[in-house]
Amino acid sequence: MKYFKRKFLKLFGLSSLLLVISPYSFLYAVTKKIINPDLTEEQKKIMFNESTERPFTSDLNYEKRKGFFHCANCGAKLFSSDTKFDSGTGWPSFTESLPGAFKTKIDTSFGMKRVEYHCAKCGVHHGHVFNDGPKSGQKRFCNNGLCLIFKPENNE
Ligand SMILES: [Zn+2]
Repeated sequence: MKYFKRKFLKLFGLSSLLLVISPYSFLYAVTKKIINPDLTEEQKKIMFNESTERPFTSDLNYEKRKGFFHCANCGAKLFSSDTKFDSGTGWPSFTESLPGAFKTKIDTSFGMKRVEYHCAKCGVHHGHVFNDGPKSGQKRFCNNGLCLIFKPENNE
């Protein structure tokens, strides 16, 4: 009898834990989809496992042309070059995203409380947003360059 009770408790404990976790992972799985079949392993690691590229590795840090930055997975238009600035952090940085481009969530990994943002259209991770933009009251979107594709305005 005692044995059964212990076993029941063990099973119950496990299943209630799964009940808490599974709706989240389920939602996560349906909102994030690989749309671009050409994504590299490095891109997938950032977009689907919230990894971060090494700073100063993206050519987009030095991109100064006029145009728009798109999601490398689904192609959604995310940032205008008008909001790009050199933050010195080694990641492409922007003061504002295009309206409705992203959804945010609180990320508490690494013992920090940061606001993580992901593409509103396909759900993949792009970066973190901070309240310390170049001018007071401005934001700083710190975006992994590998998650972005730049399309110059005149397609030069
Ligand atoms: Zn996207």
